[in-house]
Amino acid sequence: MPELPEVETTRRQIAPYLVGRRIEDLRTTRPSYFFLTPPDELRRRLIGRTIESLDRAGKYLVLGLEDRTRLLLHLGMTGQLFSSKATSPRLMSASARASLTPETQVAFEADEHTHIQFSLTGGGPSVFFRDVRKFGKVQWLAEGEQSPRLDRLGIDALALGGDHLFRASRGRKLAIKAMLLDQSICAGIGNIYADEALFLAGVRPGRAAKRVTRKESEAIALSVRRVLERSIETGGSSINDYVAPDGRDGGYQDERKVYARTGEPCVVCSEPIKRKRIAVRSSHYCARCQK
Ligand SMILES: [Zn+2]
Repeated sequence: MPELPEVETTRRQIAPYLVGRRIEDLRTTRPSYFFLTPPDELRRRLIGRTIESLDRAGKYLVLGLEDRTRLLLHLGMTGQLFSSKATSPRLMSASARASLTPETQVAFEADEHTHIQFSLTGGGPSVFFRDVRKFGKVQWLAEGEQSPRLDRLGIDALALGGDHLFRASRGRKLAIKAMLLDQSICAGIGNIYADEALFLAGVRPGRAAKRVTRKESEAIALSVRRVLERSIETGGSSINDYVAPDGRDGGYQDERKVYARTGEPCVVCSEPIKRKRIAVRSSHYCARCQK
């Protein structure tokens, strides 16, 4: 699932293709739960408008249009936002991909999973939003219209401070890992980065939030910012379907210390990494390095 670093990488890379350009045409698939605003209405609202900004709020991307309306995009589980210049086997259906050698680079052609195609003025590449599992979302917001999806977001994970985490965790019985995943407390942390940050901070994911000390809260907040910033530097994690807008894979998956390394030796102490279900998510940790 694309998390903050992947969404931020997407934002940085796709912005030059979108910002300052006018939407000349918009092609969509048929109405479905993917479209919180129906495709016909999207076309009516967006065609002819210039995109003025592309921001990120937690894991959402927000396009600001010249008429002060906004377009909300969420990549969901398997969403991919990329330009028509991108070439990657990850942009193909599983069956087409299976027939390729790993080195093959293939130009993308819109398929049935390509829910939105933006044609933009200026002759540059088009921008596609493709989502195989359709857990992504797209919603148009009128000028000044509130969005509960955005309003409920807590502080951005890149700005998380130890004091905020410490105060939010007082009296809370839930696991610290579950708390880090709560987007209303801190927006943008997902499973991979929560596990990695807790490993760096030396705190077990299953520890009750209320039992995390002030000093540990500082360490966790610092670790969250570090792993996210490092992941953005490497272009995000390409586990599952994520692909950057230029078609490249992210590099962070090669730097993981605990996530999806169950049974492998801890990089610090060689103890096998353990896996445990916490708040319905798999959590990975070292029982020796994390208290
Ligand atoms: Zn260890």
